[in-house]
Amino acid sequence: MSGSESRAQAIYQITNREPIAIKKTKPLDKIWATDAFTLVKMEESLSKTAFKAVKKSVETGAALDHATADVVAAAMKDWAMSKGAKFYTHVFYPMTGATAEKHDGFIISDASGKAITEFTGSLLIKGEPDGSSFPNGSIRVTNAARGYTVWDPTSPAYITHTPNGSTLNIPCVFISWTGESLDKKVPLLRSNKAMNSAATRVLKLMGEKDVAPLNSSCGAEQEYFLVDSNLAALRPDLILAGRTLFGAPAAKGQEFDDHYFGAIPERVQVYMQDVEDKLYRLGIPAKTHHNEVAPGQFELAPYYEAANVAADHQQLTMTVLQSTAKQHGFICLLHEKPFAGINGSGKHVNWSVGNSTQGNLLDPGSTPHDNLNFLLFCGAVIRGVHLHGPLLRAVIASAGNDHRLGANEAPPAILSVYLGSQIEGVFDQIRDGKIDGSDEGGIMDLGLSQILPFAKDPGDRNRTSPFAFTGNRFEFRAVGSEQSVTGPLVAMNTMLADSLEWIADELEAELKGGAEQTAAVITVLKKLMELHGNAVFGGDGYSAEWHKEAVEVRGLKNIPTTADALPAFKSDDVIKLFESTGVLSPRELASRFEVYAEQYILSIEVEAKLVIDLAKTSIYPAAMRYLSDLAMAGASMADMDIELDNSAAKTIASESNAMMAAVEKLADALAKEDHGSEEDHMQFCANDIRSLMDEVRGHADTLETEVADEVWPLPKYQEMLFIK
Ligand code: ADP
Ligand code: MG
Repeated sequence: MSGSESRAQAIYQITNREPIAIKKTKPLDKIWATDAFTLVKMEESLSKTAFKAVKKSVETGAALDHATADVVAAAMKDWAMSKGAKFYTHVFYPMTGATAEKHDGFIISDASGKAITEFTGSLLIKGEPDGSSFPNGSIRVTNAARGYTVWDPTSPAYITHTPNGSTLNIPCVFISWTGESLDKKVPLLRSNKAMNSAATRVLKLMGEKDVAPLNSSCGAEQEYFLVDSNLAALRPDLILAGRTLFGAPAAKGQEFDDHYFGAIPERVQVYMQDVEDKLYRLGIPAKTHHNEVAPGQFELAPYYEAANVAADHQQLTMTVLQSTAKQHGFICLLHEKPFAGINGSGKHVNWSVGNSTQGNLLDPGSTPHDNLNFLLFCGAVIRGVHLHGPLLRAVIASAGNDHRLGANEAPPAILSVYLGSQIEGVFDQIRDGKIDGSDEGGIMDLGLSQILPFAKDPGDRNRTSPFAFTGNRFEFRAVGSEQSVTGPLVAMNTMLADSLEWIADELEAELKGGAEQTAAVITVLKKLMELHGNAVFGGDGYSAEWHKEAVEVRGLKNIPTTADALPAFKSDDVIKLFESTGVLSPRELASRFEVYAEQYILSIEVEAKLVIDLAKTSIYPAAMRYLSDLAMAGASMADMDIELDNSAAKTIASESNAMMAAVEKLADALAKEDHGSEEDHMQFCANDIRSLMDEVRGHADTLETEVADEVWPLPKYQEMLFIK
């Protein structure tokens, strides 16, 4: 079958698809967390003392002893085997941002050859995958390979199923034999610890007597695209790179804004509900789902949880979204920009910090002006964004996310913070050395007696800000849809820890000098705003004026590409920030730069190879086939003395030649061997390779609009985006 016939057949198959069998779902209370070994289950199966020890460790980070680990291991095994598990795996999160697993059976055989099962505390606690086989940024050389996965009791173990069996999954950290972090989890736990200690110091200075351990929270909104798998199978770029490397725009895109919050197609709703059913079983509180801005784009948001658990759950959510899509005849694209010319996908990371005694420290309450704790924590965030904008940009840098950030699509690659009019008003007063009061939201009354009046929010939303205050949390909107939330959470917790330490030092000095509490807070925050208030911006982050003002007047950095962003990991500020807070040693940090740079280079090079391959083996042949059809038609017309306008043939010929010339240039660029430093190599990818890829694509996309539809081999944008 030719490429174009396959395309026609794929469309036929979709439109004649059998309706997907709808499973009978059970009520929420029957399925909630049935596949997770939660505290509730531990309470049922552990002795009182063992349970108390685990609970304390989960809630406060207190140490667990080995005897308790043995008891937990036995209970976990019994629970898992009762659910059909024969295998267990330590799950960990290497620096690539992926999820990794190493599976083992519970089985061993005894002296008589009988199969018995074994799972001790030490097997629960520690596993040993090869530390050199994962990207480790030179921390491990191949001949020094030992790496350990170590159980993280703060994140619940869970069971996954395939039609042929079930596996117990144990969330872990991943470290080298030298005790250095090879993963995304250790820094997250350390950043939380640093934030807790700095926050406690500030709260104690503010006269709080009882301060429970503080934890950061995260709720991550996940955007994604669904494309029918019959079409996706014919797009090697979607399969290998997760995005279309070619494709002319469809006549209709998102210009009608008719998809956003529109009625969800039934087939998609069935899929979403299946995803949610699985997430509920895993104890993941999926809460919201809706259509997104682009056609074919959707969103899923969970109810927020402790950052560490939320991070694991987010990884699991991405896995479930993708594996369930296959069962429903879709491919789920998590890439930041699967389709040129229409909105890409982000992952808004909602973040706050709090504890059981002071509550959410980023909740201003109804009178923010007299909530001094809130003002200090909010001030700490402002300082953090101002000082560490380049770090925040670096942790969201990836080849995929470059297509959103700084590429004329929101959010901009300039890190500023949006507070909303009410909170910005209070900080404006602070700049003047006083706090008078704060605006109230007031009541929304439409004057229609049948519509109940309600309390309005005191501030509006701003969709153009990369980092926005949204009432009781900050929303880091610039994170890419495919990325792990851990990098952003580590950066936010760490910058907060650093800023809270600064605030504590300043506050301590003021209070020691005899200042009264409110006056001391105003003095400290006034100084903070003088130094860092430039990061606060409430206007249109997409506008050209802002780009100019941010850079020229306010001294903020516009960092468009990953190649420009990643070197921040090597800057003295960032090294000092992570070292002083104990989150990452200079060596651990350096290894991150290496791994991320390598990933960036590899992903662009893979895409470039695919561009060459598709241009040569799919697009050029289709163009030639059509050209020879035209030539034949021209010849037979000439036989009849009919003259044909040959402008179409000329365009196709010249575009084909130009495309192949660009392909050759791209192949030469890819063959270049000596790139000097990692930084130079990244710049080469960002500038030379990417622009040559665009050049090839430009010609190919023109060809798509010139060549007869029936010979075109690649499914088109309108088919991938609109056929469900
Ligand atoms: P929107 O799209 O309007 O921003 P969503 O309902 O899609 O809002 O997502 C908001 C996310 O923020 C949810 O995951 C929610 O649980 C989370 N969230 C709410 N409050 C907090 C908080 N205090 N800390 C962290 N995340 C929060
Ligand atoms: Mg949302």
